[in-house]
Amino acid sequence: MKKLIYFAVVMITIVVMLPLTIVKGCGPSYAPKPHEKEIAVPELEQKKITVYNPSLERIDEMVLDEYIKGVLAAEMPADFSLEALKAQAVAARTFAYGRMTGVYKAKQDTHEGADICTNSAHCQAWMSKEAAKKKWSALFAARNWAKIERAVKETSEMIVVYQGSIANTLFHASSCGKTENAEEVWSGVSVPYLRSVESDGEEASRGYITTISLEIEQMIEKLSETFPENSFSEDMLEGIKIMDYTTGGRVKTILVGDVTMKGTQFRTLFGLRSSCFTLRLEDEKLEITTTGHGHGVGMSQWGADSLAKKGGTYIEILKHYYTGVDIVSIQHYENVK
Ligand SMILES: [Zn+2]
Repeated sequence: MKKLIYFAVVMITIVVMLPLTIVKGCGPSYAPKPHEKEIAVPELEQKKITVYNPSLERIDEMVLDEYIKGVLAAEMPADFSLEALKAQAVAARTFAYGRMTGVYKAKQDTHEGADICTNSAHCQAWMSKEAAKKKWSALFAARNWAKIERAVKETSEMIVVYQGSIANTLFHASSCGKTENAEEVWSGVSVPYLRSVESDGEEASRGYITTISLEIEQMIEKLSETFPENSFSEDMLEGIKIMDYTTGGRVKTILVGDVTMKGTQFRTLFGLRSSCFTLRLEDEKLEITTTGHGHGVGMSQWGADSLAKKGGTYIEILKHYYTGVDIVSIQHYENVK
């Protein structure tokens, strides 16, 4: 019996184990070699961005699409339609890639050497997954983050180009029925894809129409600081006058006392939500009613959501707000540039 067991063990070793040893020894190994691991992950997924967080005074290196998730969480309400979130992901990726490649450098380098910062007024807003989940409350946190991940994944690597060059994909919360020609907001060269276009369905946005009331003393103080050469009197309100409007329906120039200033400058001076405004004199005060929120150039986020709700795809949304552009992968852009 012992002999029989011994014979069986020997036979199993010869019939089963030996061929396996031979195959393993002579044939190709299925364990990935180091260089195969590198090939298995597409190169573009490895693209990294350095992000300066001014509030923490820290620079973090992140995979580009991981960074884009944080931008989506910070820049657009997660309950927006998926196609609107996808359009935002592509716009945010394009902006970030423009910064990374140095095509669109920040006017002042306040990044401590990083590609981009988390200040929305300077670059674009960003928040960590943890911060986003706190913002959303436990009930929606998992669902919202999953939606953001899907929007980023389904547009991975896609960017906006105009005639083969990376587009400057500016965006804003809501316009006032029309977006704005770039050169009418910022003096300088006109940008062929940042043109005034119709933007519907923004009325649902919070504070779409907002009225503020300015005391005359407040106004005089601000104006005197900004224009020390000029004098402003208490009866100047009677002379305040909107002179003309931009293509997108915003105030182009306004006369205040004896100073003619741009509507955008008036907006900055008095902290208005947009330069699309009307004026009304009321009991020694100036009532200013604004429509929309932001500079009005490029993609309107609320307009994008409205287009998505009507069945528009992210590509259709981007092509609506950025005139004459193409949506391509980063790899395609790098191959043909
Ligand atoms: Zn910045």
